[in-house]
Amino acid sequence: MFQAMAKKKGLRPKHFQHVYDQFQASISRYDCGKKCAPLNGGNPVCCTTEDAVPIAHKSEWKLLRSRTDLWHRFKPYDAATRKIVEEASDDCRAIECKGARFCERDNRTLACRAFPFFPYISRAGDFAGLACFWEFEDRCWVISNLNVINRQFVQEFVAAHEYLFEKDPQEKEYAQNQSITARRVFSRWNRFIPMLDREGGYLKELPHKGGLVKAKISEFHAHGPYVSEKAYREAVKEAEDVAE
Ligand code: SF4
Ligand code: SF4
Repeated sequence: MFQAMAKKKGLRPKHFQHVYDQFQASISRYDCGKKCAPLNGGNPVCCTTEDAVPIAHKSEWKLLRSRTDLWHRFKPYDAATRKIVEEASDDCRAIECKGARFCERDNRTLACRAFPFFPYISRAGDFAGLACFWEFEDRCWVISNLNVINRQFVQEFVAAHEYLFEKDPQEKEYAQNQSITARRVFSRWNRFIPMLDREGGYLKELPHKGGLVKAKISEFHAHGPYVSEKAYREAVKEAEDVAE
């Protein structure tokens, strides 16, 4: 007699291979790392674990280990980074690459490819668009310049996440939790959440359950040193003076 074997569920390395194969578009025609790095000791903000720690699904980590020696497990070095590692789910690993000078484009994590965006799940449970990791709005040039995002990037971002959500509904739950937190944070700030829709247009989620509505790019504000050319030049000068 045979007993039916339960099918192994969840994400496997081959699923991330598929995502890597089809999510390759550059975020914009600009090399955005050249915009934020001068204000960050010469390193792009999303490429140093002093600013951002990549979290990879354990199957993605397995795939990466089979492809490259670019990555290693991240070792927390203070209370904040310990918290990041502790809060990562059991399915995930905090990892670190050798740095921007050694970047291998084909071996970037999904987190690298998608930054600074996460898939935004509306109150109705729909994957509505691409929202930004707001903690980086004072440092990431892209968040202040959402008009530069390539349409191809948006399409590939959406396809990659739709695929992962279909393969493992828990991935959508993570995105949903992130979106709930975003709504809470922006309501506290009394600000709308700016985002791209799935076709590259613009949306805003109004605070205090005001709803998700179309937006114009002119409504989106720049932040920190990116509010004007003058502010940026001054910030770069200041960073250079500090470094000397
Ligand atoms: S995505 Fe943002 S943080 Fe990363 S390199 Fe571009 S501007 Fe810098
Ligand atoms: S792999 Fe490349 S894009 Fe990803 S964190 Fe490292 S340097 Fe940045």
